[in-house]
Amino acid sequence: MRKPFVAGNWKMHKTASEAIALVDELQPKLADLTSVEIVFCVPFTALCPVANRLKASPIGLGAQNVHWENQGAFTGEISAAMILEFGQYVIIGHSERRTYFCETDETVNKRMQAALNAGLHVIVCVGETLEENEKSQTEEVITRQMRIAFNDIDLSLLKDVVIAYEPVWAIGTGLACDAQKANEIIKYTIRKPIIEMYGEEAVRDMRVLYGGSVKGSNAKEYFVQPDIDGALVGGAALKPEFIEIVRAAA
Ligand code: PEP
Repeated sequence: MRKPFVAGNWKMHKTASEAIALVDELQPKLADLTSVEIVFCVPFTALCPVANRLKASPIGLGAQNVHWENQGAFTGEISAAMILEFGQYVIIGHSERRTYFCETDETVNKRMQAALNAGLHVIVCVGETLEENEKSQTEEVITRQMRIAFNDIDLSLLKDVVIAYEPVWAIGTGLACDAQKANEIIKYTIRKPIIEMYGEEAVRDMRVLYGGSVKGSNAKEYFVQPDIDGALVGGAALKPEFIEIVRAAA
């Protein structure tokens, strides 16, 4: 049995004090939903104060990006060790980083290596753009993203990885991917490459999330799918609606 997993991607929202207020609003209502692994992926500046707030809580904490070097002259960057002092997770390869910040499959792989080797848990995102979807390139694109992301990642590190299927056209648009279709894409473009690279046993334990306009009202449609183990939530993670999504997963 794979434990359901729901992560909130807060993106570039919430100052440190606003983040504390949101945690204080959500946390008490999430406290009894322990059958779900819950993670808040907050801006870097909120990691320290939110970590203090979550000290006695099972809710996990993560960042939204990480650099691949351990330290050095990389102005503006944050290393895995810096995140690890406060949180356990990091999102890697989100489509907003791929689109706006020159993230490539190769840099996703470098970040994966650095994060996992340092002891962080990774939520790695893959997904096709609208154009790729319309050109029927979904399978080719995601299979490529998967193969490069996992290049040289040792089987022993897979226990620390969660994969998110996030069709780019569904993120923040309100146009969620049909749940059965998402399940099929996850099965053939995410789970299949994992089997090919690591074998059947690895895929049984691998948690795969759907992300893209998940709401309280549609979350259950995804969670009843056999190959979907939870959600990566953007917009709705900043609202009390996040509790409804976690409840649906529970
Ligand atoms: C995301 O940013 O990962 C995301 C899925 O956003 P939204 O839920 O707003 O579509």
